[in-house]
Amino acid sequence: MKETKETYREVCRMGEALLKEAGIRDASVDAWYLMEAVTQKSRAEFLLCREEEMQKKKKKRYFGGIEKRAERIPLQHLLGEQEFMGFSFQVNGSVLIPRQDTEILVEEVRKILRPGMRVLDLCTGSGCIAISLALLCPGIEATGSDVSREALETARENGRRLKAEVSWLESDLFSGISGSYDVIVSNPPYIPTAQIQTLEQEVRLYEPFQALDGKEDGLYFYRKIIKQADAFLNTGGRLFFEIGWDQGKAVSERMRTAGYREVQVKKDLAGLDRVVSGIAGDRKEREKQEGLDV
Ligand code: GLN
Repeated sequence: MKETKETYREVCRMGEALLKEAGIRDASVDAWYLMEAVTQKSRAEFLLCREEEMQKKKKKRYFGGIEKRAERIPLQHLLGEQEFMGFSFQVNGSVLIPRQDTEILVEEVRKILRPGMRVLDLCTGSGCIAISLALLCPGIEATGSDVSREALETARENGRRLKAEVSWLESDLFSGISGSYDVIVSNPPYIPTAQIQTLEQEVRLYEPFQALDGKEDGLYFYRKIIKQADAFLNTGGRLFFEIGWDQGKAVSERMRTAGYREVQVKKDLAGLDRVVSGIAGDRKEREKQEGLDV
């Protein structure tokens, strides 16, 4: 690169222009966040020094980040974090980046949690659901599980950094789970396999396929969890799911058929179906129906 002298403001503009050229949707926002990460300056500090010359070393680091972002690497992977429920979660290529939509799920679960309740977050990924609940609802006993060891390592690290008391379990859905819970919550992979290739490159190329893929019709994990959750829920215990916008009917019908009561679909801020929940039937009744000893 030619030796030029540019101010912080000029460098930020150049970054934005490069991202725009690469077709990045929120070019100016991303250009700013990368600037903030490199300079460690708040917006106010930046405004005060924006006409000063930016050091060569910092410029190099900045454009390194811009180049990676132009290759569609998610901003969160470059910054190493994503905020969720007001907490900062570390993210990497082995976990799904926490989405704002999932905050609705946490809010719904939070409404019914009381101290002493046992909560299981299946497919915990970054741990964002289990950790947020543990931090927001003191006195609950939270467990997060995931089939991916790498994901679980990230979740554990997030729990440690945020000082959340959560137990972590490596488990393929319920295979490694024992005991019973008052709440089971999950944001499982729910995108039909064929649709994954239509997603934006940031997601399709850099987020874990395993965290997205809901198999042929996207409902694979809901089917399995609805069928098995029953055996791990206390009487009156609740099951909560995040779902895709077009899965409300399919998931709620399956829950009703499986004997859940008060099955509800809750919409997100965009007015789309986002959360399904229901209450497990009486445990003794359920066991009787299955012909087991009570
Ligand atoms: N539970 C995590 C989240 O909500 C991960 C979900 C997933 O991997 N499908 O972000």
